[in-house]
Amino acid sequence: MEFQELKDCRFDGSGHFKLDDYPTDVHVEKRLRPNFEALTEANTQRMAELQDRLYAEGREGVVVILQAMDAAGKDSTIKHVMSGINPQGVTVASFKQPSSEELAHDFLWRAVARLPRRGCIGLFNRSYYEDVLVVRVHDLQKTYRMPKRVLDTSKDDFFEQRYRQIRDFERYLWENGYRVLKIFLNVSSAEQRRRFLDRIDDESKNWKFSSSDVTERQLWPKYMEAYEQCIDRTATKEAPWYVVPADQKFYARWLVSEAIVRTLEACDPHYPELPAEQRDDLETARQGLLSETGGHDDRSERDATERENN
Ligand code: AMP
Ligand code: MG
Repeated sequence: MEFQELKDCRFDGSGHFKLDDYPTDVHVEKRLRPNFEALTEANTQRMAELQDRLYAEGREGVVVILQAMDAAGKDSTIKHVMSGINPQGVTVASFKQPSSEELAHDFLWRAVARLPRRGCIGLFNRSYYEDVLVVRVHDLQKTYRMPKRVLDTSKDDFFEQRYRQIRDFERYLWENGYRVLKIFLNVSSAEQRRRFLDRIDDESKNWKFSSSDVTERQLWPKYMEAYEQCIDRTATKEAPWYVVPADQKFYARWLVSEAIVRTLEACDPHYPELPAEQRDDLETARQGLLSETGGHDDRSERDATERENN
């Protein structure tokens, strides 16, 4: 077994991307699982601290994109990794099959509508990348109501244009104060099969399973080809892809938590410092509040846990 660090999962567009170079499993021994869970937990706490500062400062926004095949663990990763975070600073958007309203617009429209404010983290469960993945695999572009000049190109040209549009969009976001973190949870077909069986056998998981999941599964090689090409074309220095081995969920969660912490650290958020005159205002306010009790500071008499709860 060879552990992967975050940097081993990173592809920033230098060179040619080959999916085969990225494992779905590094076979971490079972006995090490608690260690990784503890590391994830520590990252979750660190994330909460950094997010608090990001929110207070309100300068930079972070978009975390999670892409994967079905049952790769997108939902559970969101649930676990984001558990410590203040809900006020996070939005989660799930991108399903587009509605007719959404299809009547350009493909980035619905994603733009779900962008977080700067100071917040926007988590995308699937994203505009579906428009070069599922759309490509099923040739859905052929069904779009668009002018001839758009559709009268080869399939390759159509999607090369979309890759460029995505690169341009992410560059636009970068230039507008956002960081885009793109994560592909790389699960194997064999592990997906086992997880589908779990979903069928476990009643509490039945709702997650749909029979179309099995038909999509038949298209596995086409999806992998679409992922490989999409990652190759859309990874950049500012918005790299992280291809995370996802056959072991605890390990994938740790890597995702690493990626988010590193991205927040790169934002280097600080609590805003008050200008001198506002600090003087604070001091005046303090004096005023203390004078209500004749200058006596009665906070020491209050239950200490009360203050810690804030
Ligand atoms: P799930 O995430 O399992 O609830 O499934 C959502 C489904 O919506 C997946 O099968 C996606 O491939 C599909 N989907 C998401 N975005 C698009 C899109 N732009 N065009 C077509 N299908 C999409
Ligand atoms: Mg599904």
